[in-house]
Amino acid sequence: MMPDKCSFCKGKLVKGKTEFVVKVGDKVLAIKDVSAYICEECGEAYYTPNISKQIDELMEKFHTSTLLMHPMAAGELSLSETVA
Ligand SMILES: [Zn+2]
Repeated sequence: MMPDKCSFCKGKLVKGKTEFVVKVGDKVLAIKDVSAYICEECGEAYYTPNISKQIDELMEKFHTSTLLMHPMAAGELSLSETVA
């Protein structure tokens, strides 16, 4: 379930885009343009179950090396470009 308030500071959550950064082994993968609810006060991002699922699938592809990196920058890709 999506919270309507930040569970850390009780700030208001607004719909927006964020960058999801995750460490995979010795590499850091940054996924850009991830839809999320972001706290206006502290910037904490909350992901919908659908987005979490897309990120999970992306991580799986990354682990099995079937993912083609976007050429714009090493280790950076857009979630919207990799999910059909
Ligand atoms: Zn907050």
